[in-house]
Amino acid sequence: MRADVAVIGGGPAGLAAAVAAKRAGAERVVVIERDVRLGGILPQCIHTGFGLKWFGEELTGPEYAARFVDEAASAGVEFMLETMVLEVTQDRRVAAVSPHHGFVVLQCGAIILAMGCRERPRGALVLPGTRPVGIFTAGTAQRLVNIEGVLPGRQAVILGSGDVGLIMARRLTLEGVKVQAVVEIMTYPGGLARNIQQCLRDFDIPLYLGHTISRIHGRDRLEGVSVAPVDDAKVPIASAEWFIPCDTLLLSVGLIPENELSAACGIELDPATGGPVVTDEMETSVPGIFACGNVVHVHDLVDHVTEDGMVAGAAAAARARVAARTPVLGEAGKDAGLESLQAIRTTGEIRPGRNVRYVVPQRFVRHGDAVPAAAAAAARTLTISLRPSEPAENVVLEVSIAGRVLRRQRKQKVRPGEMMQVNVDRLAIPSEKGDALTVSIVER
Ligand SMILES: Cc1cc2nc3c(=O)[nH]c(=O)nc-3n(C[C@H](O)[C@H](O)[C@H](O)COP(=O)(O)OP(=O)(O)OC[C@H]3O[C@@H](n4cnc5c(N)ncnc54)[C@H](O)[C@@H]3O)c2cc1C
Repeated sequence: MRADVAVIGGGPAGLAAAVAAKRAGAERVVVIERDVRLGGILPQCIHTGFGLKWFGEELTGPEYAARFVDEAASAGVEFMLETMVLEVTQDRRVAAVSPHHGFVVLQCGAIILAMGCRERPRGALVLPGTRPVGIFTAGTAQRLVNIEGVLPGRQAVILGSGDVGLIMARRLTLEGVKVQAVVEIMTYPGGLARNIQQCLRDFDIPLYLGHTISRIHGRDRLEGVSVAPVDDAKVPIASAEWFIPCDTLLLSVGLIPENELSAACGIELDPATGGPVVTDEMETSVPGIFACGNVVHVHDLVDHVTEDGMVAGAAAAARARVAARTPVLGEAGKDAGLESLQAIRTTGEIRPGRNVRYVVPQRFVRHGDAVPAAAAAAARTLTISLRPSEPAENVVLEVSIAGRVLRRQRKQKVRPGEMMQVNVDRLAIPSEKGDALTVSIVER
């Protein structure tokens, strides 16, 4: 089978990318999704809060997903559901398996990785005590309540203040579960400020910052947890421990981008994001393979995921056209057309500076490079997404190159739970190669 553009993952990132690839003229665009339905995580997010930026409206997750599913379907995007991608290769083949199609291999002009992320499980934490029934990741509990119609328990404690846990604190409360507490080891919340207000404060749910769960109690079913403050080294202070009775513990302790396929394909990954290193066209280190959404880095808002998908889709369609004109030549795994295109493209580096945990993209295509895919993202503005390492107040977000400041933005508050974006005028970036753009958060 052949496809101009194959998209792996039918969540909001993959759907936006497929729509954009079609709009940009790609003929055969195929979305491959392992689930029985499209939309990724959105069908289980039945709360509102989606689409304020992209549509200027407040939608639920299923409503937001439905808009893109409808648009993709009417644009002629093909969907392969219940189809699990097993392998992606550097010569742009996708191997997948499904009960409907059996084992299939697609030769593609371009590939877009949009596999999203998964939740960090209990095994990744050191939680002393027994292993009774009643411990769930927050996303699993969300699926149980919103899709299966089953309550996980009657009295809950939530470990971690990521957005999924905060949303579930409110959801469980609305369903009649007593949410005893949200416990967060850091001294600041992990989720969005709006979720702290709307999901905890509005429902009088206590949030214990600088605390952790020091012991799990119960033989068969969970009976309670011990909670303790932590010292500067994040070690629980046993003398200050207390017991909270509960039959349910939800873990909301982080999301991990799903990059097993990317790593096996030899795509360069950024240890800070857990996702592929990408250019501002969302192209990975392997020519013709793009990535977007939570597989690149964990986003706070779905609107930003859609923006990435749109860029990746348009650029992938342009790459697919180049690939169609210059068929694979030479040794296996090498595409002469795309390799030579890559060789004439020049990219600059973007690096995190003071108090910046990571930046995305990590590379940018230099303005003035006359290559087809660059056209898709060659608007004058270069948008950089970032997360701070630590919360800070009254600071300046600075983008500089070789000691010269290109952009300064005053910020009243920055928080690791909230993604930030800064725009740089490409024409202001000096054309000398070698120097990196550095993004820093500094004192005012
Ligand atoms: C509980 C929760 C609440 C949220 N609340 C909000 C909110 O209020 N407002 C907001 O703006 N955002 C919210 N978000 C964030 C938003 O939902 C995500 O940012 C967005 O869904 C990420 O999109 P994605 O397409 O990258 O990943 P996903 O939605 O995770 O989609 C990835 C898709 O890839 C598929 N896939 C993975 N591997 C393979 C494979 N090998 N083969 C085939 N298919 C594969 C998966 O099955 C999945 O369908 C929330 C997220 C969660 C989890």
